[in-house]
Amino acid sequence: MYMHRETIERLKKIRQSYKNEIAGNIILNKKGLIDKISVNVGKQHSSTLENTCIICYHTHPDHVFSSPPSSTDLIQSYKKKTIHVVLAREGIYVYKLMRETPKGKELLKNKNKCDMFNDTLRNIVVGDSKEGVKKYMKTVYDSLGIKILYFPWSNNEIMLNF
Ligand SMILES: [Zn+2]
Repeated sequence: MYMHRETIERLKKIRQSYKNEIAGNIILNKKGLIDKISVNVGKQHSSTLENTCIICYHTHPDHVFSSPPSSTDLIQSYKKKTIHVVLAREGIYVYKLMRETPKGKELLKNKNKCDMFNDTLRNIVVGDSKEGVKKYMKTVYDSLGIKILYFPWSNNEIMLNF
C-alpha cells in the first residue's frame, strides 16, 4: 500500500485543524490518494473508532515531544486486525499486528497492566530522541508482535510494507 504526497499533506492539515483528538477511517485508492475519509471529533484525549475500517486513524493533537502510539492505541490492533495510523506532531506512525503474543493478550484483558506498560514505553521515548523511538519500536515488536513504521511529515511518499 502506498500514500501519495498529497495524502500526507491532507492528513497533516486535518490534524492541525482540530484542537481535539479526531478519529475515523481512511480509504485510499490505487494512486495513494484519499478516496474517502471520515472524521469523528472526540474529547481532548479520546475518540471513537468506527467498526469497519480500511485504515483506522486518530490524531495526537497537542504533544510537545514525540508521541508515538500508546499501549492502549497499540492494543486496538488485537481487536481490529487492520492497519492503524496515528497522526502525531512529528509525523505518521503506522502499525499492524503481525503475531499475537501472551503479553499482548494479557494487556488486552487488563487495563491496569496496559497502563503500566504505557509507562514503560514512555520511559523509553524521552523527548525527541531518535534512538528512543527506535528502541520503543523494537520493544513493541518483541513484546506485542506489532510492527510500527514511522514517517516524518517531510516524506514525499509512504510505502506501507509490512
Ligand atoms: Zn493515541
